[in-house]
Amino acid sequence: MASAHLELRDVRFRYRDGDFALRIPELRVEAGERVAVIGPSGSGKTTLLHLVAGIALPEQGRVHTSGIEVSALDDAARRDFRVRQVGLVFQEFELLEYLGVLDNVLLPYRLNPVLRLDDEVRARAVRLAERVGLGQKLGRRVTRLSHGERQRVAVARALVTEPEVLLADEPTGNLDPANKGLVLDLLFEVAGEHDATLLVVTHDHDLLERFARVIDIGKLIGDAA
Ligand code: ADP
Ligand code: MG
Repeated sequence: MASAHLELRDVRFRYRDGDFALRIPELRVEAGERVAVIGPSGSGKTTLLHLVAGIALPEQGRVHTSGIEVSALDDAARRDFRVRQVGLVFQEFELLEYLGVLDNVLLPYRLNPVLRLDDEVRARAVRLAERVGLGQKLGRRVTRLSHGERQRVAVARALVTEPEVLLADEPTGNLDPANKGLVLDLLFEVAGEHDATLLVVTHDHDLLERFARVIDIGKLIGDAA
């Protein structure tokens, strides 16, 4: 069977605390596809991205991402996989407050010995910071940035490893219309340059027409939840 770039099958997931349960019979996303994920707050959109990224582990079923069965890997292998193959723009950004813009963009290289930080990577980080409009603020601590600027740092950081799979959790949620366009342009452009698969959670319905496909998480889980 030819496998899709992202594939979830008969997945069941539950958090240790609370009673939220997610069941996904099937989800396939082809390589290079650009997909938006919509659904009400609390419906499991972030959880879905975390399953694809190997941050969350299903209690049943399989998650294949980029040809790897991530749901079969142990914690260390899942982390290495994620660091190398997945770029994730977290809903809450997850920036390190005591670091500046450029160091936050380079954070994956500082935290993960499987990645090698060299001049080429540094130059790429600077270019990305420039492309999100932060070229003049490379050394500024992120506590001294606006919410929208922090979001753009998070986007640049997700792109710096040139990941095959790009996951963005409401990446335009805090931005004005001009910066929404800028951030989405950048995600699409970089995804296109590397034929990356792009999954974007969004509440911006005016942005949906730019995606090849829209997945409504309510329909994805059907009446099985
Ligand atoms: P969405 O991104 O669609 O708003 P989430 O995937 O973040 O939804 O959350 C789905 C449900 O899981 C929510 O009810 C949320 O409260 C719950 N949840 C999220 N994270 C955790 C956690 N770490 N532990 C327990 N419950 C959680
Ligand atoms: Mg969410």
